[in-house]
Amino acid sequence: MPNGGSDCCGTCWFNTKNKGEAGYKHSRDPDPDFCQIRKIAIQNPFYTYCANHPHHMPGKVEIPVGSVYEGDSDGNRQVMVALPDTSENRFFHLLLLKEICKGLREEYPGGLPSSVIIIEQLAEWNEVDAISDLEIIAAIEVPLKESEFDPQTIAQTVSAANSALKKLKKINNSRS
Ligand code: SF4
Repeated sequence: MPNGGSDCCGTCWFNTKNKGEAGYKHSRDPDPDFCQIRKIAIQNPFYTYCANHPHHMPGKVEIPVGSVYEGDSDGNRQVMVALPDTSENRFFHLLLLKEICKGLREEYPGGLPSSVIIIEQLAEWNEVDAISDLEIIAAIEVPLKESEFDPQTIAQTVSAANSALKKLKKINNSRS
């Protein structure tokens, strides 16, 4: 069992070894670990992560979202394979940002929520078209601790939106 988080390639339905199923059922199968949506071989499946994992995006999103991360048993994660900066990837992340504006949902607590990954990716790409939606997200009220909805996901998302806005507005102003 991994202790860096079960939101790993080892349990992901996009790992061809898992034959479309999420979970541990195929973990001892002899097939190689390979990500069918990112087209990469996975060397260390129980310590490799990304936002497309079913724990983070249960709607089976088949377009890569954010980078692939490698991690350790202390829960630290760092970028292993960055997502290519293409117009298609930017467009898709802007669409996902619009979905975040409609509302957040609770997510597996390991790693960063997909909402944060999406926001940070757009900021990394200096995508100033994200500004108006980021302003909506930054204005979301963070619920009190006793709320039924995980307040940490909202707090992390709002914080990411504010950081992204700071960067992107500066870029936008310098261009005008
Ligand atoms: S890289 Fe992401 S989508 Fe691919 S197998 Fe790993 S967790 Fe799943």
